[in-house]
Amino acid sequence: MLSIPHSLTGAFIASKLPHPALYIPLTLAMHYLCDWIPHWDVGTGLSVGKRKRSSAILLELVDLALTAGLIYWFFFKDFGKPVDMSDAYTFHIWMGALMGIAPDLVEAPRNFLRWEPWFIKPLNEFHGMFHHSTPNILVGIVPQIILVVVIWLLK
Ligand SMILES: [Zn+2]
Repeated sequence: MLSIPHSLTGAFIASKLPHPALYIPLTLAMHYLCDWIPHWDVGTGLSVGKRKRSSAILLELVDLALTAGLIYWFFFKDFGKPVDMSDAYTFHIWMGALMGIAPDLVEAPRNFLRWEPWFIKPLNEFHGMFHHSTPNILVGIVPQIILVVVIWLLK
């Protein structure tokens, strides 16, 4: 999936269960579960040569910028209501968001730089076991939009 739903999922879990021993394993489990849903993301088509690495990197930077904006908007800007801006809350939200994309960050050097150290390979293979993508953007985006809307409603 895109970084947006993955990170928002991690931040959401961290906001409800603000202890790393709880939200880190749950967030990682959710990453694999979400990747199991057929989806479209910036890496779709990369391995079969249907997307250039340069355009995937550019799209990923846009994805990450939107992710940071949405995390801020969802968890630090609750219009009209007081927002928890304590250091602990802030740390857990951003750590949850980071953990939400951790498996993709670990895989990024392989996807973008064709560099995969031996100790990373088993993690990427585990990640790949769950990964289902679709080249159909509409079919691949809808579940991600639904997930983001559900997080917005539940947060
Ligand atoms: Zn992934």
